[in-house]
Formats: sequence, C-alpha cells, structure tokens
Amino acid sequence: MTPLITAYIGLGSNLHQPIRQVQAAIVELKQQRHLQDVQASPIYASKPVGPQDQPDFINAVARVKTRLGPHDLLDLLQDLEQHHGRIRKRHWGERTLDLDLLTYGHAEIRTPRLTVPHPLLFTRSFVLYPFADLDAHFPFNNGLTLNHYLQKVAFDLIPVKKGN
Ligand code: AMP
Repeated sequence: MTPLITAYIGLGSNLHQPIRQVQAAIVELKQQRHLQDVQASPIYASKPVGPQDQPDFINAVARVKTRLGPHDLLDLLQDLEQHHGRIRKRHWGERTLDLDLLTYGHAEIRTPRLTVPHPLLFTRSFVLYPFADLDAHFPFNNGLTLNHYLQKVAFDLIPVKKGN
C-alpha cells in the first residue's frame, strides 16, 4: 500500500472576507476523503509582501496525512483554490485563496509544477510561525529544524483565531 505521508500546507487570503476564506478552506481540507488527521494552526493576520495598497493577509498552516502523491495533492489544492473563485490580479497581489504545499514528508521535489520544500517556508514569518505552532521541531534534511529558521525572523503577525 502507498505509505501515509505527512504534508504541511500554507493557507493565505486577502480578499472576500479572508478569515472566512481560510476557515472554510480548513473545513474543506478536513472533508477531503484523501486527507486524514487534518490539524490547523492558529490563524494570523500579516502585512502584505509586495504591493502595500492591498488588504492585510490572513494566514494559517495545516498538517495533513495522505497517500496521494505530491502532484495529486497539488491538484487537490488547486481545485480548492478554484472552488474559492481564486482571483489573482497581479504578482504578489491580492488573492481569494492561496494554498501552497510547504513540505511533503521529507521529499525534495523540483519539477515544473512543484518546488518542495516551498522556498517561502524558510523566510516568511506568516509561514514559519503557524508551522511552528504545529511542529517547531520539524527536521529538514540539512539537519536544521524549523526553529532554526524561525529564530531569524521577527514575529510581526497579529493572532486572529485559535487553531483546531
Ligand atoms: P502561487 O500563486 O504564487 O502560489 O504560484 C502558483 C504556482 O506555483 C502553480 O503554478 C504551481 O504549480 C507552482 N508551485 C511550485 N511549487 C509549489 C508548491 N510547493 N506549492 C504550490 N504551488 C507550487
């Protein structure tokens, strides 16, 4: 049988009631029959990276277990994004729902569709802090843990809701 893999997913939204978008996306992840044991971090607000004339972002991280391969998991995430009527107006601009595959087990993936671990994971507070709420000691293949990267990045988020 295909092994059960633990994957971490980054969620972000800054359009159309973004807290609701992220909360609804967490519920939808929990409803997916190919995902098990879905755990969500607290939800945070963050200032936009890139153009500043856009609403603040709402962010969270979810941990899932799945037997899907990484590209099938990306398909599932992109279907959810579409379901939220994802609008993307400009690069690093506003969007209804953004779902990123942050890690997939300890795989290192470089394909035209997928870079895993997701490069933003190592430098962005809005990914590092909610990820740390779920597993601050997550070990990367280079021997460093999530905490190592977290300590290099200031906490500049506003907590909005507890995790579940
Ligand atoms: P963005 O809108 O910035 O999240 O970029 C979406 C594009 O990034 C899609 O075409 C994906 O194929 C690609 N992509 C590459 N690596 C990843 C990843 N780890 N998670 C989600 N999308 C990814």
